[in-house]
Formats: sequence, structure tokens, C-alpha cells
Amino acid sequence: MEALTRLPEAAKPLISPVKSGKERARELEALYGHLLPNEIIKLAVEELFPGDIASVSSFGADSAVLLHLVASVDTSTPVLFLETGKHFDETLSYRDELVSALGLTDLRNITPLPEKLVTDDPDGLLHKTSTDACCAIRKVEPLARAVVPFAAWFTGRKRFQAETRAKLPVFEAVSERIRINPLAGWGSEDIAAYQELHALPEHPLIPYGYYSIGCMPCTEPSSPDDPRAGRWKGKSKTECGIHLGGLDSSLDSSSL
Ligand code: SF4
Repeated sequence: MEALTRLPEAAKPLISPVKSGKERARELEALYGHLLPNEIIKLAVEELFPGDIASVSSFGADSAVLLHLVASVDTSTPVLFLETGKHFDETLSYRDELVSALGLTDLRNITPLPEKLVTDDPDGLLHKTSTDACCAIRKVEPLARAVVPFAAWFTGRKRFQAETRAKLPVFEAVSERIRINPLAGWGSEDIAAYQELHALPEHPLIPYGYYSIGCMPCTEPSSPDDPRAGRWKGKSKTECGIHLGGLDSSLDSSSL
């Protein structure tokens, strides 16, 4: 018991003698998965994981909605942005505009490890030969590193976005941590209505037909009906890996 009391605060919620991450996520889903997005966020920030939760944001086409909901509860919630080095300039300026407009006070730009770039992607063209390897060093490893201090984090994923997300729960386990998708059940019309109601700024590339926006080399215009069709167009890849098993593995092997 003496040893437990000396552990850092951030590590304490992860130590459960009874429940695994999966069991905890299932329990949270059964209890709270039906709540509205604003209720889920308030509950998670204030009661479930106080001081121990962040929000991941791509500052993409509909990121403003989740960030507005989070800011409505606590503007000091850490916001994790994967600064891959491959974003559109418009995304970086939108990030700064949105952070300022919403009053968010803890934006964290997470960059790839310089030594990995030197060894694995010295000319910055790895995305042309292996998108998986490029995402691994520019997104998956950096996110695994960024979430280590937290017991939980929000994402803006929604079920309607892709077949791979059709069964997305609100609460998921990632290793022993909890990933929360408060907007899982919202459709595109809910997102649009919320954005309009709160007069949220729009990503500057939307008028050019970009309805899902990631890194510049891997993003093309798409349609509102199939927003993610412009991501890794012509390849079988549909997800960068940060929401798939790669993050679990990276967390398992990182310094927890
Ligand atoms: Fe690299 Fe493209 Fe993945 Fe960005 S989305 S990390 S450029 S492969």
C-alpha cells in the first residue's frame, strides 16, 4: 500500500485491482453510452476523469463541434494535435483561429521523434512508398506518447463516417486507458446544425470540396455523402492507425 500512495497522480486511475480497461469501457458504455454528447463530456471531464482527460483533434472539417463542446465544459482541457509536418497550411491557421475563438488554453502540438524522421523518412517522402510506415512514425507513436499522462481522451469520430466506424461505441478501451467518442451517434445533419447554431468557424478548405481533411499528401476533395473517400484515395488504407490496434501496441510497449 505504501508503494501505491507514492505513484504519480496520473497513474492512479489506471491501477484497478478489479477491472481491466475493456471491462471498464463496457461498464461505462452500459451506464452512459446513451447520453447526449454534452452530457458525456461534462460527466467525463468533471466526474469520471477530473484533471486526467484530454481531447484529440485533427482540426479538420468538423473538429470545431467537439472542441466547442469541450470548451463549454472546461477551456483548460488539454487538446492534442498531431503536428505531422505534412498538414495543409490552411489546417494550421484554422487550428490557431479555432483555439483562439474557443478560448482553449492548453493546445499541445505533438511532433514525430526527430531521430525517427532521420532514420525512417530522411527525405520526407515515406508517404509515397509506405503510408503505414509514415503514419506509424508521424501519428501512431506520437499519439501513444501524448496520451501517456492521461487516463482517457475524447475523439470526434462518428459512426456515419465510414464502414469501419459503423459500430463505434462511445467508450472504448485502449490498453488500460479509455477513449471516448461523444459524437459517435451524431449524423452529418447534427454536426451541421450544431456548427450553424453556434456560428463556428469553418475549415478554409471546405469550400474547395474537402470534407475530411488530414495530411496534404494523402487528402483529396471528396463529397458530403462519402467524406472520407478523399483520404488515401486509390489505396486500400482507410484509417491512419491511431484509432486502430496500433495505438494499443504502442501504449503497451511505451514507458507506462
Ligand atoms: Fe504520412 Fe499521409 Fe499518414 Fe500523414 S496521412 S502521416 S503524410 S502517410
